[in-house]
Amino acid sequence: MNKIGFEIGVDLGTVNTLVYVKGRGIVYNEPSIVAFDRQTNKIIALGRRASEMLGKEHVKIRVVKPLEGGVIADFDATKAILATVISKLKDSNVDIKNSTMLICCPSEMTTTERKALKQLGNELKIKDVFVEQEVKAGAIGAGIDIFSPRGSLIVDIGGGSSDIGILSLGDLVLWDSVRVAGKHFDKAIAKYVKYKYGMVIGENTAEKIKINLGTLSKDNTDKEYQFGGLSMRTSLPGKMSIKQSEVRMILLDAFDAITTKVLRLLQETPPEIAADIFEDGMVVNGGGALIGGVQEYFETNTGLKVRISNHPLSSIAEGTKYLLKNRGNYLVKVVD
Ligand code: ADP
Ligand code: MG
Repeated sequence: MNKIGFEIGVDLGTVNTLVYVKGRGIVYNEPSIVAFDRQTNKIIALGRRASEMLGKEHVKIRVVKPLEGGVIADFDATKAILATVISKLKDSNVDIKNSTMLICCPSEMTTTERKALKQLGNELKIKDVFVEQEVKAGAIGAGIDIFSPRGSLIVDIGGGSSDIGILSLGDLVLWDSVRVAGKHFDKAIAKYVKYKYGMVIGENTAEKIKINLGTLSKDNTDKEYQFGGLSMRTSLPGKMSIKQSEVRMILLDAFDAITTKVLRLLQETPPEIAADIFEDGMVVNGGGALIGGVQEYFETNTGLKVRISNHPLSSIAEGTKYLLKNRGNYLVKVVD
């Protein structure tokens, strides 16, 4: 008897990788990081454990972020992540060969890169692999009925890039992307701390500052956050603190670049779709949606109603559920 396969949806994010499996839900949700032993090239750690090693490794360890910059920079490492996740999906009634895998990719990914992604799935022994734009999956996961004849606007502020999509009838009508997102915010914070206070900090520390203090709205308390790094003055380890208002200023600067892109795309929008978007507003997805005051910020700066996705970090993986069912067929709306 022929065994059935799994239905697997993959969100290969620059910062986080999520894997959804039909009947099991999200089975993997960890940072997109792999640590290898330099000599044997064997995996030492994956995900969260590898992330903790970042910036603290010695010569025998190589820590890789295979999806840095929004494109797949290291296919072997990406494959290693997925192979490990799949190897854990044991079920004697299932043959991995007969599975279907949907891999979500950034909108700007070229045909060649998409082909390579498909091949990556095939190399994992899965015959049926297809690739879809992640903005689409994210919109479905965020609760937008993308299959209806109604235009919608979604902005996904991820790690490597902010992706903007205008959808109607189940597919993207217009899209754009800007390399200003989570990683950029972290880098801007590290740069500020270096030039303003003469302290060099690592990327994990910069991210902690962002997560602890990051907000776009004015707060009278102006709390502070203490962190450690290497003082440029003494060339020795040291500690200092940064104020929320300083982080806010850095973030506002970056968000203005995202707003500019959103407004530019809106200007090109076909009028009927523009009318729908004016009625329904826009949805914000991705880790950047968790920054305080994002809703008010975009409302003020775009003049639209704004809704933050209920689960900004997992909407894409959730959305794969529906795309797996109908293989992205724009005419079929599936009820779970
Ligand atoms: P990607 O899809 O590129 O992997 P995600 O949508 O998973 O990105 O978002 C990851 C980014 O979100 C990271 O840069 C992370 O620092 C940021 N992030 C996560 N939680 C928060 C938070 N509470 N506040 C601000 N930023 C956050
Ligand atoms: Mg993402």
